[in-house]
Amino acid sequence: MATFKAVRGTRDLLPPETALWSHVEETARRIFARYNFGEVRTPIFEDTSLFARGVGEETDIVSKELFRWQDRSRAASERDTSLTLRPENTAGVVRAYIEHQLGESGQLQKLFYMGPQFRRERPQKGRYRQFYQIGAEVIGPPHAGSESPLRDAEVLEMLATLLDELGIQGWRLEINSVGSAADRARYNETLRAALEPVVGQMCEDCQRRAVTNPLRVLDCKVPEDQPIIDTLPKIADSLDDESKFHFAAVLAALDAAGVAYTRNHRLVRGLDYYTRTTFEFTHGGLGAQNALLGGGRYDGLSEAIGGPRAPGIGFAMGEDRLVLTLQSLDPNSAPAQRVQAYIAPLGDARNPDALNRVNAGALALARELRRAGLSIELGDGSFRLKKSFEAADKAAARIVILGEDELQSGILTVKTFATGVQTKVPRSELIQFLEQ
Ligand code: ATP
Ligand code: MG
Repeated sequence: MATFKAVRGTRDLLPPETALWSHVEETARRIFARYNFGEVRTPIFEDTSLFARGVGEETDIVSKELFRWQDRSRAASERDTSLTLRPENTAGVVRAYIEHQLGESGQLQKLFYMGPQFRRERPQKGRYRQFYQIGAEVIGPPHAGSESPLRDAEVLEMLATLLDELGIQGWRLEINSVGSAADRARYNETLRAALEPVVGQMCEDCQRRAVTNPLRVLDCKVPEDQPIIDTLPKIADSLDDESKFHFAAVLAALDAAGVAYTRNHRLVRGLDYYTRTTFEFTHGGLGAQNALLGGGRYDGLSEAIGGPRAPGIGFAMGEDRLVLTLQSLDPNSAPAQRVQAYIAPLGDARNPDALNRVNAGALALARELRRAGLSIELGDGSFRLKKSFEAADKAAARIVILGEDELQSGILTVKTFATGVQTKVPRSELIQFLEQ
């Protein structure tokens, strides 16, 4: 019979590698708690139009990469709806912010999330169709301070701390400002004019973007187009005084905190709702997919999806890429896990009653030890001694032998693999012995 495989662009995460994923998630949770973020969990699918409006029809994500389907109604009271697996989580979080009127509290909302996202991309290393993001948003009404450049700088400083604590050395922070919606409209006109005489020599995508959304031309990766792009006007020159002042304040706070950054005039990001600060953290260990995370300010998003004015700033980290980076820095970063002891019941395979007695005794002992907090692997009484030793040597620091004699006498034989020493330990002292 034909066998099944994980669908193209999806993959199974298995031990021991999953320990590294847990480590990344636990570290992120610890840091988020330190900065007073609370967790939000939104559904994995939403109305398609949330993403069309919240991410932008013109983006690659919405125009090419959505997993969407027409969901049939089940009852006369329902209508068919177009649903989509979330390609990112910011639109969902802001939808939840609006739906639950979180702005009414007057407090800044600091929310983090972690979970799978879905985009129909060309799969390659570091680029999957189901991938995982860890992200956070700081959002609220303007009077809660949500527009303050201090919020931007604090989020960036938190990210620097998180990457440092994960042990990701050599990250780079690239930062830019795309200004207000009005600045961007002005810049788009400037760009359109500057592109007119040269766009004929550029790639097809750029020719289309020059008409629909000239800002996107800066995202182009085609090598031949790069010299032309380098000559285009910079967005920094189209910012109004308020946007310039905001950006300068973000950079000054980063300088004061000692967070290093590089200004990148071409960093405009793929999403339509970004305003002012945009940023990316990159790492050389990733090759072509070098972005670890991206983010920025999205002051107009809430209103774009029908909510109140709620400026915000956030980011999304690619967890797959964090794990790949940790593995590139230390190939042994997820060693196979070892338990503290392997309990080997020793029975006589020809005597079912005796076999059951040692197996039962072994389960009772394993229960006692595990409830005392020890990590235990449990063998099987039908194994020969040699097989038990081999299994224990792979899985555990020690082996505890439990045959009929040991059950009766209460004196167990324990071997410590690191030293090769074999010891007789009374059952009452076993927990203490194994904890050493
Ligand atoms: P890229 O330029 O690499 O396509 P992007 O601009 O599409 O990234 P964002 O939408 O900003 O990425 O997502 C934030 C982060 O999520 C990225 O920096 C990356 O680490 C991760 N990411 C995005 N798409 C994928 C994917 N298909 N597979 C794995 N990680 C991804
Ligand atoms: Mg992308």
